[in-house]
Amino acid sequence: MNSLEKQIEDIFSPQGILVQQMPGFQYRKEQHTMARGITRVFQEDAFLVAEAGTGIGKSYAYLVPAILWARQEGSKVVISTRTRALQGQIVDHDLPELAKILNQPFRYMEAKGRENYLCWNKYMNILAGRRELEDEALDFFQAVLTWAESTDTGDRKELSLPGDKMKYWPILAADRHQCLRDLCPYRDKCFRLKMLKQLEKADLIVSNHALLLSDLQMDHSILPQYEHLIIDEAHTFIRVSFEQLSRRFAYQELQRILRALFHKERQVSKGFLMHLYAVYPNYKSMLDEIRSYMEQINALSASYFNILDGAMRKAGEQSNTYVLTAQDMEAEWFYKVFDLYLEWQQTMHALLYKMNVLVKELDGEEDGVQLENFREVLQEISDTVFSIMEEDLQAHDRVVWIEWYQGQAAAVCSASIFSGENLAEKLYSQLRSLVMVSATLAVNRSFDNFIQRSGLQPYADEERVLTLLEDSPFDFERQARLFVVEDMPDPGHKQFNTELIKVLHDVLLKAGEHTLVLFTSRKQMLEVASILRPALESQDIRFLVQNEDGDFDTVMAEFKKSSPAVLFGLETFWEGIDLKGDELTCLVIVKLPFRSPQEPFSSAWDRYYRLQGKNSFQHFMLPDTAVRFKQGIGRLIRSEEDRGAIIVLDSRLVRKKYGRVLQNSIPIKEIIRVGKQELSTCLEPWL
Ligand code: SF4
Repeated sequence: MNSLEKQIEDIFSPQGILVQQMPGFQYRKEQHTMARGITRVFQEDAFLVAEAGTGIGKSYAYLVPAILWARQEGSKVVISTRTRALQGQIVDHDLPELAKILNQPFRYMEAKGRENYLCWNKYMNILAGRRELEDEALDFFQAVLTWAESTDTGDRKELSLPGDKMKYWPILAADRHQCLRDLCPYRDKCFRLKMLKQLEKADLIVSNHALLLSDLQMDHSILPQYEHLIIDEAHTFIRVSFEQLSRRFAYQELQRILRALFHKERQVSKGFLMHLYAVYPNYKSMLDEIRSYMEQINALSASYFNILDGAMRKAGEQSNTYVLTAQDMEAEWFYKVFDLYLEWQQTMHALLYKMNVLVKELDGEEDGVQLENFREVLQEISDTVFSIMEEDLQAHDRVVWIEWYQGQAAAVCSASIFSGENLAEKLYSQLRSLVMVSATLAVNRSFDNFIQRSGLQPYADEERVLTLLEDSPFDFERQARLFVVEDMPDPGHKQFNTELIKVLHDVLLKAGEHTLVLFTSRKQMLEVASILRPALESQDIRFLVQNEDGDFDTVMAEFKKSSPAVLFGLETFWEGIDLKGDELTCLVIVKLPFRSPQEPFSSAWDRYYRLQGKNSFQHFMLPDTAVRFKQGIGRLIRSEEDRGAIIVLDSRLVRKKYGRVLQNSIPIKEIIRVGKQELSTCLEPWL
């Protein structure tokens, strides 16, 4: 046993440092095994794919070896989480606790996007009266004054202001197109630059998937060089990388940039161009030309998105995305869109050229830097649209889709179907060690599908990928019961909603203190909610529906403090929520969480497997559903004291052959089949 392994034993053993020095810490052999496994990964330059069931304490199991390794070798370890909540918990709780008990000084730093930090230049411009604010924005500014003068980090998370105040945060936030870079008079105090410098010195960097992937896209210009990476909540990494590595032309984003340059408000002209008109009257004709090109681009963009909108409405598209097909590209509307695009691109080139000329004229001036920032962002938009319209639409290895927002066509996007291969090339190839961990990675107790889809197969072929499956220490058979209502119609059947309402009516009126009902369709959730609301509220049951009764945080807070309470939630509630003890006593799953085949993500995987002559249901849809189903089931039992019932209203779980795969992927082994009539009676002992 070498010194590192000995330290791990001293810390994690049944009488080790954690048990002795951390109040309330309970020895877990699964955690101990995982810490040993991760230590081995660091020592052997290996990759590890690990599932750590709920309650194992996976974050300590990787943080401790990471700290010891970083200190011993003097090399950085980057940790990436999907959610801000977990990132915050590691930085604000886990690492400070470990710092108290480990006999090792270590440095850690949280890496976040620039929009989280106060920009001194913006702040000083407002303070000095160089920028005027409307009343409400001024209230916000006054509310943050004391904090701004005393903060060491400039991180918005230190502010605890309500959402209606924080919506003005962008007036102070660092942002790319207003940053003065080398000409900024406050560079020495810049919070974002300080954060980047501290990342250089840190042993551990705690990041999130979005930032980690942005860093990849920007040729590693955010994070310092690293060779050791731990990806927590890894079950989301394939999906997040598909989105983050995609191309996106968003109408709102373009409008935001153009508006920051020039817009009219109650007949008054505003924006950066007006500032340039005032300071540089000699350049009036050039500014007039820039303004005119911008107006043309605005009009062309509006027509472009209007045609997309009209075409999709005619096709009767209901969902928020639509993947373009080969037939679409032959349609008349598409030719119109393409002609508009060509005109748009030509005008954009003219605008960029003029801006460039003016940037050169303003060389050495702060205003020149700001104008160049705007020009760069517009150049990127132009390049993105070029790639989507002139390359990706014809490419067999990309999917292109339209996105809707609030009933309007809002963006055109494209993504590679080879997301795993891209990760292998851009990310894994630079690493010496990698840990991918989550409470839900294995399907049917196998990691093969995850390894293949995440791009790790070439490393597995070289026998560099280790796997570890540690089950949750909770006693699910004693703590929970899972009922499947076997006489429910198929979810696609027209009678399903009627039966669903009847069953939910019975269950929710009798269910215990806190019931969470997980839906996969917003439309279905709202329909059912509107019918059940009067009955539930007449019985003084606090009834909460995601988005209808508030955003995620609001309904969660209200659900926790009310009893009895029923909460209807969509995708965000299927994972990452942690309701312990009486906060959740009954969980209802309305439908197995199959993704829509029309989603761009599903479409991409379907094309990927079809290209290889494989069945995409077996290789993508089913394993993906198994992991999401396991996430949903995992909401109920979060500690040893928890107890409760799970009701699955989708009888395909026991009727279909593929249901076996889903059953074998969850920690509850005994599944009780019941009829609609006997459900309430069976539930009684568990509520
Ligand atoms: S360097 Fe950029 S982000 Fe930092 S204070 Fe200056 S303008 Fe703001």
